Amino acid sequence: MSRILHRRIGPPLPVAVEGEGIVVRDADGKDYIDASGGAAVSCLGHRHPDILAAMRTQMDCLEYAHTGFFTTEPAEALADDLVTHAPEGLGRVYLVSGGSEAMEAALKLSRQYFVERGEPQRTRFVARLQSYHGNTLGALAVGGNLKRREAFEPILFDTQHIEPCYAYRHRRPNETEAAYGLRAAEALERKLAELGPETVIAFVAETVVGATTGAVTATPGYFKAIREICDRHGVLLILDEVMSGMGRTGTLHACEQEGIAPDLMTIAKGLGAGYQPIGAVLISDTIYDVMRSGSAQFHHGHTYIGHPIPCATALAVQQVIRRDNLLDNVAHQGDRLQAGLEKRFGNHPYVGDIRGRGLFRGIELVADRTSKEPFPANAGLARRIHGAAMARGLCIYPGSGTADGQLGDHVLIAPPFIVDGGQIDTIVERVGDAVDAAVVELCGGPT
Ligand code: PLP
Repeated sequence: MSRILHRRIGPPLPVAVEGEGIVVRDADGKDYIDASGGAAVSCLGHRHPDILAAMRTQMDCLEYAHTGFFTTEPAEALADDLVTHAPEGLGRVYLVSGGSEAMEAALKLSRQYFVERGEPQRTRFVARLQSYHGNTLGALAVGGNLKRREAFEPILFDTQHIEPCYAYRHRRPNETEAAYGLRAAEALERKLAELGPETVIAFVAETVVGATTGAVTATPGYFKAIREICDRHGVLLILDEVMSGMGRTGTLHACEQEGIAPDLMTIAKGLGAGYQPIGAVLISDTIYDVMRSGSAQFHHGHTYIGHPIPCATALAVQQVIRRDNLLDNVAHQGDRLQAGLEKRFGNHPYVGDIRGRGLFRGIELVADRTSKEPFPANAGLARRIHGAAMARGLCIYPGSGTADGQLGDHVLIAPPFIVDGGQIDTIVERVGDAVDAAVVELCGGPT
């Protein structure tokens, strides 16, 4: 009997014992195609020799040095690399150990920035419903994933949430994508007017929404309008690219495809590709300059920030992605994945939407394609699909509450960047079989 408090207290999980490329093997010798890279993490697949070598080299030199006393070569080199490839104006880096830590740091940094600027009345954050920014209390407070918040609501700081940009559900029948994008962005303008924009620290959003709705991209023009509204009111823009960033959508940063740059950007998951826990905040020069000429100290820190082994690992990950032109593969195989899913599910009665960018794709399930009515929450469809996929040797990432926080199901497909065309086809086939099997289990007949 396991002594671990697992995510779910229930039947035992398979024991993962080794990995190779896009495959994870369990203790019974069963292979699983890791078609979601865990939670969009393992972007180079498993046991990549170059990454393992970089980790070993660093381990042989220095395993740890406190960041209050020392800086290290791998941390400096990683920061240089991240800034070299960052969107315009993001010239500094704060290194942490994961996505939630990155969000906590971004929230505190943005608040401290205004304190140092002499605007201490800015105390509020505006964020979006149907978003996820992490499970620590600050990150959870700005998150709009209702189920994850529920039990903790009374102990979360007050955050104002606006509707997301979610065309499949909220675009009106005769509205263009661009008109919808502007209407969705207007919600921020209204919220700022209601609160008093001078009281707001930042607007927080996932550039492409991951776990909560399954690879929902904003419509064209939405983020440009958001950037303009933030600038006009002196409100910072924090983009959470923990899941969608570091190449997942086919460009290093998802916001490149929106034509904007944030003031603070959080990254994690693909940054270390699962080889080591690491995250980071990319920080604008303006924020850094205000801090430097103010208290010259960020009132924050954790024991393991800037840890040399994760930093050396993440640097090697970035170098391999560039050396092997993997972002081209992300774009190319991403198109093949989308086309394959559309072909497989084009007429499927229970698939409402197939969406995403690069190797970041989501399938939203509905009980009725015309009305877009979701399955009942207690049907647990996404979990059933996940179970059926695991039985077929496929890992995909399920989510529920997709439509409105309570109802709706989706699965996320986010394979490693090294995936090839044949593997994409196998993934599509197994996803198709898993969805069909789950629906038969639920509805009791062939689809
Ligand atoms: N932000 C986003 C968009 C995420 O998807 C996640 C994790 O799924 C987080 C933040 C939190 O990251 P972590 O689980 O590494 O703390």
